[in-house]
Amino acid sequence: MAIERTLSIVKPDAVAKNVVGKIVDRFESAGLKVVAAKMKQLSRAEAEGFYAVHAARPFFKDLVDFMVSGPVFVQVLEGEGAVLKNRDLMGATDPKKADKGTIRADFAESIDANAVHGSDSAENAAIEIAYFFPASEVYSR
Ligand code: ADP
Ligand code: MG
Repeated sequence: MAIERTLSIVKPDAVAKNVVGKIVDRFESAGLKVVAAKMKQLSRAEAEGFYAVHAARPFFKDLVDFMVSGPVFVQVLEGEGAVLKNRDLMGATDPKKADKGTIRADFAESIDANAVHGSDSAENAAIEIAYFFPASEVYSR
């Protein structure tokens, strides 16, 4: 499988619960490497732009409210099949439906406050990484 990059966000609920390190450990233990990272308070415009694909969904306003409710930890993960590997480690969107041992099953409370974001394709990963990190801030192997 090819070496890929994906964008991962530890969302405000998980930052507030002080489990950033525990979540990053899941990625590192699975062979993904952190090649860029920062903590950031998103503005409404940044959160709306990031989730623009969901703008017409009924949950959009709640999603934006949640994403600006506190700082997030944004990172770029690199490794073999990074996009799918990250999604597998995250678990289903609704933590109640997430497999045992996934990040969302272990750290998330609800479908609104579900601990992590992960890119859903290599194509979207490239767009999402560029949204938060100039190329000069990504430290690849
Ligand atoms: P994922 O984060 O698993 O890729 P989506 O891209 O479908 O999920 O949705 C983006 C985010 O919007 C989800 O992580 C979740 O926080 C929120 N969301 C999705 N569906 C719902 C829903 N039915 N009700 C409330 N929030 C939702
Ligand atoms: Mg998604």
